[in-house]
Amino acid sequence: MPPEDVPDIAVVSRGRTLPPERTLLSVRGLRKVYETGGGAVEAVRDLTFDLGRNELTCLVGPSGSGKTTLLKCIAGLLAPTSGDVLLDGKRVTGPPKKMAVVFQEYGRSLYPWLRVADNVGLPLRNAGVPAARRTALVAEALESVGLAHVPRAYPWQLSGGMQQRVAIARAIAYQPEVLLMDEPFAAVDAQTRADLEDLVRSVRERLGVTVLFVTHDIDESVYLGTRVIILSSSPTVVQEDLVVDLPDQRDQLETRALPRFTELRHHVYEQIQLAKRGHRPEDEKVAD
Ligand code: ADP
Ligand code: MG
Repeated sequence: MPPEDVPDIAVVSRGRTLPPERTLLSVRGLRKVYETGGGAVEAVRDLTFDLGRNELTCLVGPSGSGKTTLLKCIAGLLAPTSGDVLLDGKRVTGPPKKMAVVFQEYGRSLYPWLRVADNVGLPLRNAGVPAARRTALVAEALESVGLAHVPRAYPWQLSGGMQQRVAIARAIAYQPEVLLMDEPFAAVDAQTRADLEDLVRSVRERLGVTVLFVTHDIDESVYLGTRVIILSSSPTVVQEDLVVDLPDQRDQLETRALPRFTELRHHVYEQIQLAKRGHRPEDEKVAD
């Protein structure tokens, strides 16, 4: 079925912008070119969008479309070639205090010489959180990722999936305003993955955190998101930005069985296929 035949999918825009009072994070004309020995690589061409407070936005796009690059620029770990990232109206020039990031490479994100509980508690210690509060937050976060039984283990004693859950616990314990996650569940088994998806949703509800979640799993993007941004293939722009109009209370079985869920995942799938074939949003202007 061609995308135009899918009924009433609310495409908000190609990169939605919001009034300042509702905006937590803004990406404005972001471009990133890597200078390499073999020449310049334009990872991101031109991205503009806003994230509203408490939104859970999923970001999907072909491999190599610059998703990780975008996250690193938002996290203040990489300087854009041009354009800006604004958090609460202030330009991001280094890692912001109220942001936590869970990267794909979980193995490299934990300190091997620190026990699990100390890894999770480290950002809290650095932020000057008192010991008693720290202990409580760490215990709660480990409990919520199903790792309450291994606080004294070292990361290298755990499986890949467990290590990634430690990284997720660390981000949750920190209670950030913005949580960036880059394909965080790629290495965990299916059942744990479903549990962690629900955990991310409940953390967003409980803490009012704003989440930007990169995934290559289309079903996951629709199940988790209040919104899905689809990136084009390189040179990367926003191909589509759509509202996930599913009931706010999600359930792994019931939500995924809704006809609307199927329509939305179908639509996202079609868009990614178009992106992979090199379709550009501007191509549509020549229709009719
Ligand atoms: P994605 O996460 O969507 O798969 P990336 O952001 O990892 O995409 O990469 C986007 C493009 O930028 C790719 O062509 C990749 O090879 C290139 N790239 C990523 N990191 C670097 C780097 N440090 N130096 C040079 N090129 C890079
Ligand atoms: Mg990536």
